[in-house]
Formats: sequence, C-alpha cells, structure tokens
Amino acid sequence: MSFGDKLKIIMLGPPGAGKGTQAALLSEKYGIPHISTGQIFREQIEAKTGLGLKAKKYVVKGELVPDEIVIEMTIKKLESLDPNKGYILDGYPRTINQAKALDNSKFSPDIVIEVYVDEDECVKRLSSRRYCPKCGATYNLIFNPPKNDEICDICGSKIKQREDDKEEAVRARFKEYHIKTKPVLDYYKAQGKLYRIDGKGSISEVSKRINSLIESLLKKD
Ligand code: AMP
Repeated sequence: MSFGDKLKIIMLGPPGAGKGTQAALLSEKYGIPHISTGQIFREQIEAKTGLGLKAKKYVVKGELVPDEIVIEMTIKKLESLDPNKGYILDGYPRTINQAKALDNSKFSPDIVIEVYVDEDECVKRLSSRRYCPKCGATYNLIFNPPKNDEICDICGSKIKQREDDKEEAVRARFKEYHIKTKPVLDYYKAQGKLYRIDGKGSISEVSKRINSLIESLLKKD
C-alpha cells in the first residue's frame, strides 16, 4: 500500500460516531475521493430525482434503502472515479450483501475502519447535528458550530437538521446498525481488514488516531 496507489478505505460506525466528518478530513489530507452514500441520497431527495423519490421513504424513517438500489448506485459511482486515486467509502457497505457485491467487483477494499462510540454519546451528538442541504457540509451546534448562526460557512445556505436525526428515526437507525451492519464488521474481521478506532473526544483527536493508523499500515508495507 502507498499513498496515491489506489488506497481503498471503508469507514463504518454507528449513527453519530463521526465517520462522515472523519472521512472528509481523510479525503482532504490524502487526496482520496470521498463517497458518502447517505449524502448522495440526501442530494437526490433534495433534487426530487427518481432515485431520490425511491430512497426517501426509507431514509426519513431511518431504515436502510434496499440493497439492489444501493449496490447499483455505489458501483456506478466507483466506476466514475479516477482508478488511480482509490476511494473512501462512508456508510457503505451496511449489509453482508453489499459487502459481497463490492468483493465481487474490482473495488474490494484494502482496509475497513470502524469508528466506535457508545450509543448514549451518539444520541447526544445527533440531537445537535446539522447539515447544509446545498453543499453537504456538516456541523454540530455544540462541538463544531458554524461561524454565523445556522448559516453554512462554505456556501452561505441555511443549515438544517436531518429528518432522520429526529428521535424515532434515530432509534430505527441504531436497530438497523445492530442487526444488519454489525455482521459486516465480522465479515471484514475474518478477512483481516478491520481496524477499530475510538471515536470519543474532539474531531482532531479522533483524526490523529486515524492518521496514525494509516501511517503505521503504510510503514509496514
Ligand atoms: P448516513 O448519512 O450514512 O447516516 O445515511 C443516511 C441514510 O441513508 C441511512 O439511514 C439509510 O437510510 C440511507 N443509506 C445510506 N447508505 C446506505 C447503505 N449503504 N445501505 C442502505 N441504506 C443506506
């Protein structure tokens, strides 16, 4: 493994663990494209496309979008990237079927990073989380607020609470995580690709842990 040499990374973790924030930082630091399947769905829902309409009923309730929709969408997206740059996939795979589909394509990952945080802390973070519907930037009103009240620092749009960060949907998302996504962690553990990172602490503390993991893996090579 070496930087720029097709490093393929998967980021997983329970809702609110901070995997999206960390994937964005990693992407910026190493110049690896960041793909968030949740973000693609939010953009498609906002734009009211056919895919957005199909996904909306699941996303707002905190349920997983059916595998056939997610798999096709994600593989197509990966095929559209520069193959020399690798990828950081954030929020995919969330089921064993999705993981197998990736392994059956040319996009099998090199490493899988699980960002773990206990459920109480995740719920606390989710209630103050906001996002920008226009550019996808994420904020937390307590830990990482925008400079101007509820206005996106990057594009100036009004930030919003995600529909699925409301209490009932949050509960459904945790249930989906425990039932469908936890087995994915075991799947990658059996392949020797799983690395666990403590997601507690500030954004920069967690980021340091992830960066030192990546550096140590690259040194081993
Ligand atoms: P996220 O932004 O990763 O928390 O994803 C938000 C929502 O998008 C999830 O709760 C699901 O409804 C949907 N979603 C995102 N990625 C997937 C996936 N890999 N499989 C199924 N549904 C997904």
